[in-house]
Amino acid sequence: MTTTKSEALLARGQRIVPGGVNSPVRAFRGVGGTPRFMAKANGARLTDADGNEYIDYIGSWGPMLLGHRHPEVLAAIEDALTIGTSFGAPTEREIELAEEVQDAVPSMEMIRLVNSGTEATMSALRVARGFTGRDLTIKFEGCYHGHVDSLLVKAGSGMATLGIADTAGVPKAFADTTIALPYNDVPSLEAAFASHGASIAAVILEPVVGNMGCVTPTPAFLEALQALTKKHGALLIFDEVMTGFRVARGGAQQLFNIKPDLSTFGKIIGGGLPIGAYGGRAEIMHRVAPVGNVYQAGTLSGNPLAVSAGLAMLRHIRANTGLYDQLEIKAAALCANPPKGVTVNRVGSMFTFFFTETKVVDYETAKTCDTARFGKFFHHLLANGVYFPPAQFEAAFLSTAHTDADIAHTRAAVHAFFDA
Ligand SMILES: *Cc1c(COP(=O)(O)O)cnc(C)c1O
Repeated sequence: MTTTKSEALLARGQRIVPGGVNSPVRAFRGVGGTPRFMAKANGARLTDADGNEYIDYIGSWGPMLLGHRHPEVLAAIEDALTIGTSFGAPTEREIELAEEVQDAVPSMEMIRLVNSGTEATMSALRVARGFTGRDLTIKFEGCYHGHVDSLLVKAGSGMATLGIADTAGVPKAFADTTIALPYNDVPSLEAAFASHGASIAAVILEPVVGNMGCVTPTPAFLEALQALTKKHGALLIFDEVMTGFRVARGGAQQLFNIKPDLSTFGKIIGGGLPIGAYGGRAEIMHRVAPVGNVYQAGTLSGNPLAVSAGLAMLRHIRANTGLYDQLEIKAAALCANPPKGVTVNRVGSMFTFFFTETKVVDYETAKTCDTARFGKFFHHLLANGVYFPPAQFEAAFLSTAHTDADIAHTRAAVHAFFDA
């Protein structure tokens, strides 16, 4: 496999862009080797600058539920181009997209569109603080909620891969507003509420974690989250930026039958274009300006291209809800009979091959992984035309564009690594 063009682009990029990439995980620091610069994508396939083809298990880190260049999404973007790409004034389609999200996720009584998942969680936290008049938030170790200052504490994902415990550049006063607890640990949650209950504005979590690799919540943890937030007047925020329209049309909150006070979305709801959304109980969202006194704004928020792509995506999903059953079957086939020495966690079409025999339930257990061996596994797959996430602490994604032949090829490549 030739990678001369990617190597040249990396060298050129590193002179002008930090690490040659616009988001750290793309630099392959977790697995070594040359990051592939992509030239194009179609369906479940990526093609790099040297013309190498890969079966794509990143799906742009989540958005590509329907694969790349889905015809209905492309048509919606083309249609949007004919009317203009940004007005700085409201449009009907923004209302339609909000209604479409609400139809799938009833807890979203009111919704505000923003431009990224980071903006969504940042804004949801601000509203939670404004509504409760409190400053503290609880988050969980290994959960990533975008690069919001106060949430970059034990934040999983790229920081876990790079071994950055706490990022530089966040004032101590901001980090001090965050209490980071182990995921799935009920006693530590109870203890935090016992000592700080009256000051806690919100608990934010990934209701199925993707950003320390795929980790599921226990029923007891979910129950404690609901009971303790309710008892102490704190808000429960589900960060569904990854899980929304991924693990089910109604997100993780549909799977677990929970109505959070606030939720955040991104990724899939933009159909592959930049978007985010936050929302929830009307009483809380009425605090957002111009109705209330919590300020939040965006020059390009609700921009016609992203909204049109997202709308086409969500309409396609509503008309084809059976796609989740098909994804489940394909993902189950891909993950069946995991190789010895590997723990596979999977919820629907998101999954992680953890290189450990320990059951992975939180960040501590995720860290038992042999990341060096994962790096070898990653490069073995890459050489065989399979593009997995280039880091142990990330989830992989299937799309409706993956064929049975793609799954069979991938399984063969996975098992060849362990046979060798
Ligand atoms: C990706 C992600 C974010 C951040 O979204 P961006 O669009 O990258 O800012 C926030 N929360 C979760 C759970 C995510 O997976």
